[in-house]
Amino acid sequence: MAFDTTTATAWITAAEAVVKANEARLTGLDAAIGDGDHGANMARGLTAALANIAEKEPATPGDVLVAAGRGIVAKTGGASGPLYGTAFRRAGKALGDTTDADAAQVGEALEAALTAIKELGGAAEGDKTMVDALTPAVAAFQAVAGDGGTVAAAAQAGADAAEAGLAATVPLQARKGRASYLGPRSVGHEDPGAASLALILRALAEVTA
Ligand code: ADP
Ligand code: MG
Ligand code: MG
Repeated sequence: MAFDTTTATAWITAAEAVVKANEARLTGLDAAIGDGDHGANMARGLTAALANIAEKEPATPGDVLVAAGRGIVAKTGGASGPLYGTAFRRAGKALGDTTDADAAQVGEALEAALTAIKELGGAAEGDKTMVDALTPAVAAFQAVAGDGGTVAAAAQAGADAAEAGLAATVPLQARKGRASYLGPRSVGHEDPGAASLALILRALAEVTA
């Protein structure tokens, strides 16, 4: 199965559900190295994404992601709102007006999201942010797509890589965002944004499987 309007909408629906189911966990991670609002920020943002999709009735998967991104930006504060909002908008724009994206196209969209996050937030790999989950995920997704793999297979590899990237944030010291204010005390915890990113990519793997 490729990535069409129904699948894109199912992805955001599943992402909202899994983030809400993990809201307390995300908040707990952010309480350890930030200000304890990441679960609430993400739940509010994805609920707004779903509401905007329902209102706009997008006709392409790209427009679904653009609508999601605009909903997130409009309703979510914190660092993560603009970063995720811009990421979804740029991913949607990268899909253009295709009605049924293949694995290579979805891989390009995820790469556009990563580029947008890095441009806006200035974080590089190793700074202990969502970039540490998304960077290996994009590479893994594109490797499977490049071998002719399906969206489902690529998304599975991407989600696995995002979870490994999340685990790899534990020993890192944060160099971006609120967690960087803690200096060495940010070591020893998962990064909340990397955790939400991994959940969202696992949702993509589940809806495409
Ligand atoms: P805030 O820190 O403003 O309260 P959130 O708690 O919602 O916002 O989000 C925190 C997450 O945002 C961090 O765990 C990190 O993954 C991500 N983040 C923060 N700053 C940046 C940045 N400059 N670039 C990329 N990601 C960032
Ligand atoms: Mg926070
Ligand atoms: Mg905050």
